[in-house]
Amino acid sequence: MKRLVLLGGGHAHVYVLDALARQPLADTEVVLVSPSPRQIYSGMLPGWIAGHYPLDACAIALPPLAARAGATLRQTRATALDLAAREVLCADGARIGFDWLSIDTGPVTARHRIAGADAHALAVRPIESFVEGIERLFADIIHDPALTVAIVGGGAAGVELSFALRQRCPDARLSLIGSAALPLDGLPRRLQHRANTLLTERRITWHGGRRAQSVDATGVVLDNGSRVAARHVLQVTGAAAPRWPAAAGLACDDGGFIRVDASLRSTSHPVVFAAGDIACYSDPRPKSGVFAVRAGPPLAANLRAAIGGETLTPWRPQRRALYLISTGDRHALAAWGPLAWWGDWVWRWKDRIDWRFIARFSA
Ligand SMILES: Cc1cc2nc3c(=O)[nH]c(=O)nc-3n(C[C@H](O)[C@H](O)[C@H](O)COP(=O)(O)OP(=O)(O)OC[C@H]3O[C@@H](n4cnc5c(N)ncnc54)[C@H](O)[C@@H]3O)c2cc1C
Repeated sequence: MKRLVLLGGGHAHVYVLDALARQPLADTEVVLVSPSPRQIYSGMLPGWIAGHYPLDACAIALPPLAARAGATLRQTRATALDLAAREVLCADGARIGFDWLSIDTGPVTARHRIAGADAHALAVRPIESFVEGIERLFADIIHDPALTVAIVGGGAAGVELSFALRQRCPDARLSLIGSAALPLDGLPRRLQHRANTLLTERRITWHGGRRAQSVDATGVVLDNGSRVAARHVLQVTGAAAPRWPAAAGLACDDGGFIRVDASLRSTSHPVVFAAGDIACYSDPRPKSGVFAVRAGPPLAANLRAAIGGETLTPWRPQRRALYLISTGDRHALAAWGPLAWWGDWVWRWKDRIDWRFIARFSA
């Protein structure tokens, strides 16, 4: 009997589990390692903050999905890999042996890049601790409706979270800090201007062209020396890689993301596969849930082929991802390449996609 270990219950692995439930692997034990029994779907997280969905509706329950796939769920976190011994070393002290390993553990927040962030900022990842921190923020708001919150990170996630917080906390004093002149850097200019206008209309102060240098108990110090007062600081800066894949000797790019070939197989260790934000594809794509989801079917097919000794099939990710960014008021902004739209119909479109995703993996 061989053993396949699925590390992380991320967007690609929920698809792999679903595929295994439909068609089990012969003579293979499957073990899923996840620190939490649920996978909170980041696409709906701003909707939970805005008050549109209960948290349970934004999460995929992993135990029933694992059970349907015939997989054993080990609720712990990988801290290291021993590739020579083919073992995953876990936070609870367990060493889980594998014949095949697939990694979909997502990114981490680069806390070390902002002095004091470890002690004074709430990082968006891990999402489970972010949710706990947001619940504390909601509790504080009850006592002080006008409290100050600074969100560091002017990309899609930071913008979406700012609008969601405004919806939930109408009197809070909100600031959004981003390194580009306009929010949503990299998306169509028209959309950036629209987001900027909405930030002003919603009384969210935009600090553009600025980097957060340090965080302390009273706020954020920017790279021009100015200070943004804040009782709560949320760090929503881009995706970084954890240290353990490179430390284990897996081939990684300069950022520490696992290099995989077109079949999603590690370029250095043929028994290891990776997908989602933790992976650096042979034809790289932006870190995005869309690409993590799209990697699910080829990952499932290639794990099956590798275990069965068959030829792997290359995957060519689509060139563009659709961005759907909710603005807290059941409206949303959309971008597809150079095209941009917005409106309540965009939010309904996003809402349908999100519910469909969750429903697919819930019994
Ligand atoms: C607020 C917010 C909103 C977003 N909205 C969108 C959106 O609308 N559309 C979009 O395309 N992208 C969106 N993104 C980006 C998206 O979240 C990521 O690109 C996506 O989650 C990556 O998927 P993944 O499968 O790689 O990892 P994840 O979804 O992060 O899943 C990784 C899983 O692995 C687990 N894990 C982590 N470390 C370990 C470990 N050491 N051992 C075992 N398990 C581990 C985690 O608990 C988690 O369950 C958003 C991000 C944020 C923060």
